[in-house]
Amino acid sequence: MNYYSLNNKKQSVSFQEAVIQGLAPDKGLYFPESITPLPQSFFDDIESLSKEDIAFQVIQQFVGNEIPEAALKHIIAETLCFDFPCVPVEENVYSLELYHGPTMAFKDVGARFMSRCLGYFNRHSNKNVTVLVATSGDTGGAVASGFLGVTGVEVVILYPSGKVSDIQERQLTTLGQNITALEVAGVFDDCQDMVKSAFLDESLKHKNLTSANSINIARWLPQMFYFFFAYQHLKQHNKPLIISCPSGNFGNICAGILAKRLGLPIVHFVAATNANDTVPLFMESGTYIAKPSVATISNAMDVGNPSNFVRIQEMYHNDINEFKKDFSSYTFSDEETELAMKTLYTTTGYIAEPHGAVGYLGLKRELQNHPESVGVFLETAHPIKFLDFVEPVLKLKLPIPSQIESVLVKDKMSVKISSYDELKTFLG
Ligand SMILES: *Cc1c(COP(=O)(O)O)cnc(C)c1O
Repeated sequence: MNYYSLNNKKQSVSFQEAVIQGLAPDKGLYFPESITPLPQSFFDDIESLSKEDIAFQVIQQFVGNEIPEAALKHIIAETLCFDFPCVPVEENVYSLELYHGPTMAFKDVGARFMSRCLGYFNRHSNKNVTVLVATSGDTGGAVASGFLGVTGVEVVILYPSGKVSDIQERQLTTLGQNITALEVAGVFDDCQDMVKSAFLDESLKHKNLTSANSINIARWLPQMFYFFFAYQHLKQHNKPLIISCPSGNFGNICAGILAKRLGLPIVHFVAATNANDTVPLFMESGTYIAKPSVATISNAMDVGNPSNFVRIQEMYHNDINEFKKDFSSYTFSDEETELAMKTLYTTTGYIAEPHGAVGYLGLKRELQNHPESVGVFLETAHPIKFLDFVEPVLKLKLPIPSQIESVLVKDKMSVKISSYDELKTFLG
């Protein structure tokens, strides 16, 4: 499968090149040249398939013959080494828990898949690759864990100082080996801008930089899997399916929309945001205006200019009327989010963290328009990752899962930087 740059359709590259480059040389995001719906028989028989079988059939066309079948199946098995429960919360409301992986956020799926693809492409090469990635919270930990010990790959993670939770910070600063954390005096958008500048910097060509943000197709595409898992679980209800994604960089929901292009019967998508309301405003006015990000309690979604939105626009042919047919976007304040967490807990016993609660709010709003539907919100992180907030708000004590316990005893190691020049000097 070839991928074109969204800035220039004539610039197309193979899957391998797109994974290694991350971003096209003209700064465009890569997008698949063709999208072929899966056969009806796949959906008819989906109950009988394992999650690995589903994932293989979903991703195969996007990889093509660049990774042989056996190797791709092996990568998928290692990617999906944990569960994706779809938990009933209220009548016709389900939480798809994407947080049972090694770093307890959904980004484990993309990070594990990408690291193993890169490892495969690098298997005979002694040329080092440097993965450079900006994180608003969970990407850093997932990438650090996913790439730890992968030979020939150095990982450099930029994160905004003081703007990620303690556990998030430990997950990305304590592993050592081929992983280095750079603590940036600034916000997530500053980190992202520095990463983008580095990719375009000719003087860093020798570093073979690649990204592991959701702009990388190998992070983005495997996120389709769990939309299929939700359908597999809920198909028996025989009701129209609505999915709400708590959205920041819009990679997750963008994968859901691509899944629909493969034939997955999702009738409506909700992109639920915190106060970073660039896309909700776009849905009202039809004009996309990037904004500086603002800090909220759902910090992994503090993004003012979501990178993946251009891919979504491509799928809706830049036509606001097409968007409106099956896509909504709503913004929620921190107060509303906190109240939703409390209400959910007291009425149902379900413990949501702030990102999941934003997703829940978006779903509830949309269900008012589709009362005959069944809805799923993605619970994108384990509540323990935000324990400083979740415990006092819900007045409870969360047990510490083993994945988290192991990082709490390790020491933080980071390098402080405050400008692009310092990043450049560090990379050398
Ligand atoms: C990254 C992240 C999000 C946002 O996902 P996008 O794909 O960037 O929209 C939501 N919740 C959590 C917990 C995250 O880590």
